[in-house]
Amino acid sequence: MSFSVHHYALELDYKPHSARLSGRAVLQASCTSLSSIELSFGPLRVSKVLVNGKPARYVHSAGVLRVRAAVRGSFSVEVRYSGTPVPVSTPEWGDLGWDQLTDGSLVASQPIGAPSWFPCLDEPSSKASYLLDVTAPSPYVVVCNGVLVDGKVSGSTTRWTYSMAAPMATYLATVQIGQYVEALPDVWAPARLRRLVAHDFARQNQMIELFSSLFGPYPFARYSVVVTDDELDVPVEAQGLSTFGANHVDGRRGSERLVAHELAHQWFGNSVGIASWEHIWLNEGFACYSEWLWSEASGGRTADACAAAARDLLSRLPQDLVIGRPGRADWFDDRVYKRGALTLHALRRAMGDDSFFALLREWCARNRHGVVTTEDFLVLAGHRDLLTRWLFEPGLPA
Ligand SMILES: [Zn+2]
Repeated sequence: MSFSVHHYALELDYKPHSARLSGRAVLQASCTSLSSIELSFGPLRVSKVLVNGKPARYVHSAGVLRVRAAVRGSFSVEVRYSGTPVPVSTPEWGDLGWDQLTDGSLVASQPIGAPSWFPCLDEPSSKASYLLDVTAPSPYVVVCNGVLVDGKVSGSTTRWTYSMAAPMATYLATVQIGQYVEALPDVWAPARLRRLVAHDFARQNQMIELFSSLFGPYPFARYSVVVTDDELDVPVEAQGLSTFGANHVDGRRGSERLVAHELAHQWFGNSVGIASWEHIWLNEGFACYSEWLWSEASGGRTADACAAAARDLLSRLPQDLVIGRPGRADWFDDRVYKRGALTLHALRRAMGDDSFFALLREWCARNRHGVVTTEDFLVLAGHRDLLTRWLFEPGLPA
């Protein structure tokens, strides 16, 4: 795609009872020279498109909004739309994007669900700042990425304005709408789960301290959590925010490893993003390894014991996956997670703790708010033979 988007201003109005969304998206972009602009956008009804403030012709079909306009240098595209958002349905990963809850809605787009709710340049390498301005009926709380900069009640609705100044990939943009209370500062949950959530997320600040000491400073202005009243298959990370299902709280920290996992994505995946999905082990392997680091630091199983268990599990699964270059159907295969984490454990053993954690801090500092490839990691880490065996050969190394 021959243009870049630098900023998305999304103004949305959502009615949970009728599931109706109306939106105005203003994209600030730039290019060398283009005769048409192509954006990914799902089946919502587009009523108007403006380029640099002037009405433009467009064709919207099969998930693509093609705007006819000659542009060069900096330009803006404004799209007005409405309808009932439906998730992007995929055979590999189920429903992605804007989804209805029993009472409210959530957005979980990874990897290709963002066009279900706003027109975008939907590539993980394309990062932009965001202003998310969402109006919803007043009993509902709206939590988005970033910092709440304004909240205005007018009549029966409240308008919530969030700013995410740090560059963010489209799949990490989110809007969470529900009747939530704050169980802990920045941890939102339905009132019925408040006590369980307050207990299960109580050690999250200790996790932030641990990860900050191991990986470098927490990369965003804020970290929020939303626990939905519905059950979710898996928790999902967004930038500066993670979403869990009611089934992930039990008052016994039964899912604490997932709390650590989603938090770790703020460093690995969100701040340090990937240039394309085939590098997904750089997100999931690191987040999985962070689970083991938290386990060890909090008095649970050591990273060695976690690694031994993961190796045992992997040795009984088919060894036909190259985790450094998985095909689309395997991006989120559990072997990418476990073997990715084992790769890091093997590297840690080869380097020693001091050098290994210095490497992780250097990785996060150098690539803060950027995008990376597996080759970038190999160049920085060295130990190419060891990493090649783990990442690019299907058999499990000794
Ligand atoms: Zn993950």
